Amino acid sequence: MRDYDVAIVGASIAGCTAATFLGRQGASVALIESHSDPAAFKRMCTHFIQASSAPTIARLGIEHALDQAHGRRTDTNIWTRYGWVSFGRESAGPPMSEWRPWNVRREKLDPILRDLAASTDGVELLLGHTVNAIVRDGERLAGVRTRERNGDEHEIRAKLVVAADGRDSEMAKLANVPTKLKQHNRFGYMGYYRDTPLVTGDSAQMWLLDPDVAYAFPTDSDLICLAVFPHKDKLASFKPDPEQAMARVFESLPDGPRLDPDKRESKVIGKLEMPNTVRQTTQPGLALVGDAALAADPLWGVGCGWAFQSAEWLAEAVGPSLSGGPEDVDAGLERYRKRHRKGLGAHEKFTSEYSRGRRFNPGEKLIFRAAARDQEVARRMGLMGERWVSPQSALSPATMARAVRVNLSRKRPPIGLRRAASVAG
Ligand SMILES: Cc1cc2nc3c(=O)[nH]c(=O)nc-3n(C[C@H](O)[C@H](O)[C@H](O)COP(=O)(O)OP(=O)(O)OC[C@H]3O[C@@H](n4cnc5c(N)ncnc54)[C@H](O)[C@@H]3O)c2cc1C
Repeated sequence: MRDYDVAIVGASIAGCTAATFLGRQGASVALIESHSDPAAFKRMCTHFIQASSAPTIARLGIEHALDQAHGRRTDTNIWTRYGWVSFGRESAGPPMSEWRPWNVRREKLDPILRDLAASTDGVELLLGHTVNAIVRDGERLAGVRTRERNGDEHEIRAKLVVAADGRDSEMAKLANVPTKLKQHNRFGYMGYYRDTPLVTGDSAQMWLLDPDVAYAFPTDSDLICLAVFPHKDKLASFKPDPEQAMARVFESLPDGPRLDPDKRESKVIGKLEMPNTVRQTTQPGLALVGDAALAADPLWGVGCGWAFQSAEWLAEAVGPSLSGGPEDVDAGLERYRKRHRKGLGAHEKFTSEYSRGRRFNPGEKLIFRAAARDQEVARRMGLMGERWVSPQSALSPATMARAVRVNLSRKRPPIGLRRAASVAG
């Protein structure tokens, strides 16, 4: 097979995004995907895409396609025992007032992204090719070997290889990329339901039950994605009949929808093991993007967003270097490594730590209680929760001091849940 500037392994969110942005910069890209069906999609994902990646989605130019697919531009309401927190997006100022989270099923999103990449000049989508070996020139990664279903094998050489092959990255194993696995003490079940209105209308609801979690996400085609992420100590009570166990959780939720099995539009599917995975993001000639680089999900709904963002950061950092030699490409990789760490490092630590399944710590209790009573604390929490700013800058001493004042004031009752007009009262 011919040589390329870039060989990307995995044509899902991260791979298609990287291929599109690199192709637009004039690079020749082999986009390699083991599925042979262009409409293949990831099933186990609740696809709440944080607003901080909406600008990347806009730059990809797929907003219209997502609207055509009836994707929802949604919003966030979080319940804790201290009351409901809404971020007050309209009055929050930029960037929160400008961008909303998306929610669209992966069966719609993944083919849209694959079509976009495949129709980008310079990008060649190679479906039905599974990467099973890497090619090195000395220390440097110089390509991959693929195998088709019919047994045909190919060597694809490139100046840069990108691992976009997900949480269990085969590329990372083949290239011996240092990997840290962090405990994730929750399991998840999800399903899609029709005719299941939320009191918040198009706006998502999340219950942080400390330590269990439940979600109701309005998504495309008037469906609601209902999901639970309980602590693993409850697994035995879920396994015999996961949907019945989910229904019991939803029955107990304040302002929650009822889960009616007769309204289910999909199978109920589950994932019992999902350790958070943190990898070194670069090696000479190799970059990791999306879940292959970092999977610290799903509790805060960031994996899809980070796949979009990390792929765009990579294209920005290395795209201009691809016309140069290996040292130019590696200088671009170093820029990407730093950008990735700056953007996601602190969020990963925070998310992974909470994924252990522990109860709220005193700082979180303070913030959740204050955010339920004070719109400004809620706004700052939203900036961090949507990953616009780092946890350190959102939870600054000034924010903590304000939270203490709010919590000590007797005149600050909970703000309460903002109900959709059609269901108000
Ligand atoms: C239960 C659950 C719920 C989630 N909910 C959310 C949510 O609400 N919001 C959110 O933002 N994120 C969520 N996520 C995370 C999200 O699904 C991932 O972060 C996202 O899919 C990562 O995209 P990616 O492109 O990096 O990898 P993936 O989507 O995993 O894609 C990897 C691609 O690589 C291909 N591939 C793999 N190996 C090879 C190979 N050897 N050769 C060729 N191709 C290969 C695969 O076929 C696949 O197409 C959830 C995850 C789980 C487990």
